[in-house]
Amino acid sequence: MTKKIIGIGAVLCVFLLLIVIGGIHCFAAAKPSLKISDNASVLTLSSLGFSTQPSSKNLARDTLPESENNKSKTSNESKNLAVPILYYHSVALQAGNELRMPPDQFEAQMAYLQDNGYQSVTLDQFYQAEYHGGTLPAKPFVITFDDGYVDNYTTAFPVLKKYGFTATVFMVSSYINGEHFLSWPQLTELANNGWQIEGHTVDHPYLSKVNAKTVISELKDSKELLEKGLGRPVDFLAYPYGDFNDEVVLAVKNTGYEMAFTTERGWADHQTDAWHLHRVYCFANMGMDEFSRRLQNPNY
Ligand SMILES: [Zn+2]
Repeated sequence: MTKKIIGIGAVLCVFLLLIVIGGIHCFAAAKPSLKISDNASVLTLSSLGFSTQPSSKNLARDTLPESENNKSKTSNESKNLAVPILYYHSVALQAGNELRMPPDQFEAQMAYLQDNGYQSVTLDQFYQAEYHGGTLPAKPFVITFDDGYVDNYTTAFPVLKKYGFTATVFMVSSYINGEHFLSWPQLTELANNGWQIEGHTVDHPYLSKVNAKTVISELKDSKELLEKGLGRPVDFLAYPYGDFNDEVVLAVKNTGYEMAFTTERGWADHQTDAWHLHRVYCFANMGMDEFSRRLQNPNY
């Protein structure tokens, strides 16, 4: 302690000397931001406007407002890294329900993708490419299914296998083993075949309309259940109904999700922050023209 006081005294003497002798006024301007204290961290990153939270993969982007991010990127970069993340629900025949993609239409879409040189990538690959310098094939796309309908396994899985594609299921955890929904053995088999099983809450609420405690349990309990049941990390989320607000987004980050997907139209792009990623809606009777249009224009 005595040594510290002597040290501080010495520093102040040098300061005074410089000001008196050199008349260097610029030091005075810098001084208010520097505090000398017993707590060494005062002089660390926090005093310079950086977060002192434990280092995170997304820290650098967190400190940049979106507008800054947008300004710093060229449109070419964004084109190269924008990826269509297709989203489906059920693959089944049911007239009048646009959430159920008829199997023949689904297969025609997969054939179109293959015939036109598109390559299926996983959400992990997408994440690495967008935020950590990973690479993607020339024409990447991602398939996602929301909710976890059993036909994702019985109908879509064999089709995707045939084309060499994989997908992600955003699974509502309380639906697992339920009638019409995926079972644990089915989820395990999908995961063992390169599919990713990611979060879609416990009960599929409108997250902006439930209380803060419920938001946390919806996000956390579903993540933990899937991680425990499948022995794999669950780092990504799709907002039920595409519904969120600022508090929800904060809870999603704090619960440890690295990316979250909305239902807003357009390709997913690193210029949007990782918790507001857009997707390409695929619905029954959209037709091949509309399907291909959405695969050719990031802002369709
Ligand atoms: Zn859903």
